[in-house]
Amino acid sequence: MKKFFPVLSRDKATSSVNLEASETQHPSESIKVVDYELLETDPGIRPPISSYHPDIQNEVRKAYLKIGRHKPPYNFVYPWSVQGNQRRRFCKNWFDLYDWIDYSESKDLAFCLPCFLFKNVSKYGGDYFVTEGFGDWKNSHRLANHGTSSNSHIDCVHMSYALTL
Ligand SMILES: [Zn+2]
Repeated sequence: MKKFFPVLSRDKATSSVNLEASETQHPSESIKVVDYELLETDPGIRPPISSYHPDIQNEVRKAYLKIGRHKPPYNFVYPWSVQGNQRRRFCKNWFDLYDWIDYSESKDLAFCLPCFLFKNVSKYGGDYFVTEGFGDWKNSHRLANHGTSSNSHIDCVHMSYALTL
């Protein structure tokens, strides 16, 4: 069974997610409210878009686009991990290099915001950036490849732009 998030919706069309307050709404009204403060922003633990009722998925996407990419505080110390015979970690300048990249402090993994937002409606599906995150720091060229060569990513970026127009 799909898990919906009733606190995010006051849409009369989605009876399964109505709030008590919606009983006072006029039947012709369709008010969709996404409370930004209730959205989990850490990409390692935020619920997938597909877990929201389809009627509010675009509102949730818009909210995430307004909030922007998840970045740790400036003084956050990115943890080292030993990969091969070298210590590696997430590089802060990837936020500048890749305008789509998200970072999860809780998982120490990189994610892709546009892919997270649109993977469930992209005809190309998605890749590990969305569901599993990326932590293979020694092969960081894969980050560049994701941004330029992934059909799924390019499709998701286009849909992100379209939603903000
Ligand atoms: Zn992507």
